[in-house]
Amino acid sequence: MGEAKTTDTDAAPDTDGADHKQAVKAPGDPAVWRVLLPVPLAGPLDYAGPPDLQIGAVVEVPLGSRRVVGAVWGPAEPGDAAVPAARLKAIERVFEVPALPDTTRRFVDWMAGYTLAPPGQVLQMALSCPAALVAEEPEAVVALAADLPAEPAPPFKWTAPRRRVVEQARELPAMPAAELARQVGCGVPVIRGLIEAGVLATHWRPRAAVPPRYRPGHAPADLSADQAAAASRLCDTVAAGGYSVTLIDGVTGSGKTEVYFEAIATALAGGRQVLVLLPEIALTAQWLERFEARFGAAPTQWHSRLTPLARRRAWRAAAEGTAKVVVGARSALMLPYPDLGLIVVDEEHEPAFKQEDGVHYHARDMAVTRAFLGEIPAVLCSATPSLETLVNVERGRYGQVVLPRRFGGAVLPEVAAIDLRADPPERGNFLSPPLLAEAAATLARGEQVLLFLNRRGYAPLTLCRSCGHRLRCPNCEAWLVDHRLGRRLVCHHCGYTRSVPPACPECGAVDSLTPIGPGVERIAEEVAAVLPEARTLLLTSDHLRGTADLADKMRRIRDGEVDVVIGTQLIAKGHHFPGLTLVGVVDADLGLAGGDPRAAERTYQLLSQVAGRAGRADRPGRVRLQTYDPDQPVLAALLSGDRDAFLEVEAAERAARHLPPFGRLAAIVVSAPTAAAADDAAQALARAAPRAPGLEILGPADPPLAVLQRRHRRRLLAKARREVRLQPILKDWLGRVRLPGSVRVTVDIDPYSFM
Ligand code: ADP
Ligand code: ZN
Repeated sequence: MGEAKTTDTDAAPDTDGADHKQAVKAPGDPAVWRVLLPVPLAGPLDYAGPPDLQIGAVVEVPLGSRRVVGAVWGPAEPGDAAVPAARLKAIERVFEVPALPDTTRRFVDWMAGYTLAPPGQVLQMALSCPAALVAEEPEAVVALAADLPAEPAPPFKWTAPRRRVVEQARELPAMPAAELARQVGCGVPVIRGLIEAGVLATHWRPRAAVPPRYRPGHAPADLSADQAAAASRLCDTVAAGGYSVTLIDGVTGSGKTEVYFEAIATALAGGRQVLVLLPEIALTAQWLERFEARFGAAPTQWHSRLTPLARRRAWRAAAEGTAKVVVGARSALMLPYPDLGLIVVDEEHEPAFKQEDGVHYHARDMAVTRAFLGEIPAVLCSATPSLETLVNVERGRYGQVVLPRRFGGAVLPEVAAIDLRADPPERGNFLSPPLLAEAAATLARGEQVLLFLNRRGYAPLTLCRSCGHRLRCPNCEAWLVDHRLGRRLVCHHCGYTRSVPPACPECGAVDSLTPIGPGVERIAEEVAAVLPEARTLLLTSDHLRGTADLADKMRRIRDGEVDVVIGTQLIAKGHHFPGLTLVGVVDADLGLAGGDPRAAERTYQLLSQVAGRAGRADRPGRVRLQTYDPDQPVLAALLSGDRDAFLEVEAAERAARHLPPFGRLAAIVVSAPTAAAADDAAQALARAAPRAPGLEILGPADPPLAVLQRRHRRRLLAKARREVRLQPILKDWLGRVRLPGSVRVTVDIDPYSFM
């Protein structure tokens, strides 16, 4: 990259229009522009370009031997451009897409500063759809020729289909030949013959996807008094504009979605864009149908399962401002909205909002930042809000509206524990006699049962009964999970799979490998044996063929074509099953162990969500939690239904230990090809560890997964009081230590994964 030079974003000037004009020289002279590129550098590089470029313009530039796409980040400061424009490499192409808005650019810089990711890597998330940068090819359409020949020249002959086409084409708009053939009900050659004879004419037109038209007043719900009060507060904040955050704190089934739909209606009536973030798993056909029923058109979707064409159109529509409502998973936050007026984060407590690779960010937290930078309202929504959010409510930073009751008089389910020490399942089984008895009674009443276990596969561990050997992944320090569906053993961390060996690979004993513990597939097997009459459905990501399949399975449950559903967390979110009245949690203790300070909170959230599936309509629901420790605080809270008391204790404990949200954490994970290299690197970092009041550096330690994808890992944890700004300290620390090229260091500010 020779002449180009980097600048540090910390020293970045304001990239507003005033600066821009100052830097512009005589018209026509090339100017020096700072261009941010999707490479791991500390900041933008200088390039020569036309003086009238817009800041934020998306451009292509040479970088070494490559061409890369980046964005103009600002003009070079006068005096800063040590290299004159004439000697710099030039911007080679300016894409015809809207320049990245000021808010988007500030958001990228802010996020890079917060996550310690290179700003170019954050920018790449905003420019995540290169195909969208060029306009779609125009399409050929045919219509009756304007100067229709009176009688086409021979050898042309009129046939019945040809006459039919001409007759109908008079009434139809121009359309692609194949489409016309389909509408008329003839073959494409018939159309081609008419084109050759000059009866039909072809022309090209741009492929314009017609933006959906939402009607804010299309079909509003008839809100209950609670709902109406909540909605009117939200609508007021949206109408007032400006930055605010409001939590909708409402029990499952209270109508939170209906309430935030009203806020969306207000934003739409003001003509602005709206973003709804949902955890990918909750972005279901059911949600989309509800939205469309309410607003008269479907929202623009943004998630990992889009087709390339849908993706490209969605990016462009969001960037051009024609996509008025975008609903998506966390990455939708990064689209360059020119006129965002509201962000809704549904299921705000969901850990799935935390991105764990590339740029480590939490989409809920970043949504709040985006709202702040864009000076717009954000709405967070949950039945089990995160402690982070509740603390912000308590401190008066966030507003709160509460929906304490289920809509339409449905009562919350009755929750009870089944103590497995007193009522153990039969040997080799996992469902206790009291749970089975209740399940049988529920089925006898013609109602449905959900058995929840958040563990995919048949068994989490396979053990040799002769020598005690455990089958592990060769790439990771993890057990292989037995998946009976595909008759494979699978590593859930790297995807490694193998067939089940006929003999123990360690001692050679034949027929001695035994599955240990349950996964959902094993529960399904048990249900088939003990409730043979029941129609069962196993619902996990392994047993799904795409979204249509999921929608179909959800419909079958809703329509009562299924008696017993056995599922992982896939089933826990936001679905409505009117006939479901019993929820059995197979292992309520799962997820409580481990070093994650949020383990208790998360378990509480997940189990509350699952419990919320029971008894949503006219029949009351029951929830049974199988446990070895019914006195455990999380279970006690679920049993008493006293969420706030639980959270108070949880908050007090975390505050005492200065854990988030009362203190700051950052994980520094070192990985290397060998254990020795990982140790050396971790020790080198530990020796250089910063010292500051209120800051502790813990480790290095072996994480639970000390080997992952063939790389050896060591973990350091920076733990600080709230008032300490961790980022500059970490940046300085990591900048001071030189490590070999084979060592990778990742920083995770406010980690959610402690693997
Ligand atoms: P939550 O998001 O709080 O779990 P939902 O918004 O999904 O609750 O509402 C629960 C159910 O009650 C849905 O089927 C929804 O359509 C229905 N519902 C909620 N409020 C109303 C209302 N005001 N009028 C009609 N149906 C409503
Ligand atoms: Zn693995």
